[in-house]
Amino acid sequence: MLVVHGGAGNIDPAKLPEPLSVYETGLKTALSEGLGRLEAGESALDAAEAAVRAMEDNSLYNAGVGSVLNADGVVQMDAAVMDGATGGCGCVTDITSTRHPVSLARAVMEQTKHVMLTGSGAQRFGAAQGLERIEPSVLITEARRAQWQRLRDGQQIVRDHDTKGTVGAVALDRGGRLAAATSTGGMANKPVGRVGDSAINGASTWADARVAVSTTGVGERFMRQCTASRLAILMELTGASVEAAAQRVMDELGKDTGGLIAVDRRGNVSVCFNSSGMFRAWGDRNGLREIGTMD
Ligand code: ASP
Repeated sequence: MLVVHGGAGNIDPAKLPEPLSVYETGLKTALSEGLGRLEAGESALDAAEAAVRAMEDNSLYNAGVGSVLNADGVVQMDAAVMDGATGGCGCVTDITSTRHPVSLARAVMEQTKHVMLTGSGAQRFGAAQGLERIEPSVLITEARRAQWQRLRDGQQIVRDHDTKGTVGAVALDRGGRLAAATSTGGMANKPVGRVGDSAINGASTWADARVAVSTTGVGERFMRQCTASRLAILMELTGASVEAAAQRVMDELGKDTGGLIAVDRRGNVSVCFNSSGMFRAWGDRNGLREIGTMD
């Protein structure tokens, strides 16, 4: 089972720069990338990473190419991965020139003794690992520059959700392993150096033997509540289903804070959001395919 999201927020199809169908195509591409890995017998972690990489390459989403700009007008990305099979996690923040931050986060998890690397150190490590670099200017699309100019003039810092959002994936493989991954450019016009939940395991990203979670929304809220790990702890301590635990943590966050995707070890899926919409899709090796944007 694989679930992907492309951000939650006050999505108004009439205001989207592209027709809804184009966003849905992006979700389907990400889904088939990840499902292809599961079908080939690869791990949940491989599938979640592949799905997120596909969305990082798609300029429709706020991750990788097409990320929002910070207050200085540059892209500054965050990502995290967690492998429920090992309990390992990897996080990166302030990434400006690595093409796939999700793969950098995975390399931190697998190739270092550490959990988080930041900025130039993270990128130097990524280059040494052979990860693809990208010119910071190539990450910036015309639409993002125009958005940033508008926000800067109005002195606003916003989530990107009226257009397109953060990306994430959760997966369950045939060996029963769970994994989660999240990647983002963060908030549009954010202060330089601001780190959001998408770089923090436990806040945006969690996977253990029971459940895998990836969130999107107002990062500071998810960080204060440790939403992703809180959902897992609720399941463990109260015996709540993934749906009930997801609903509870989203209710605790309050209105219009965002959403999450989760899958448990039996393949039960929860897609839960308290904003008007969330780009999401899920599917499995047996041909199940679901896709949605609004309620
Ligand atoms: N959670 C992200 C952040 O706060 C934003 C988002 O999900 O759109 O950086």
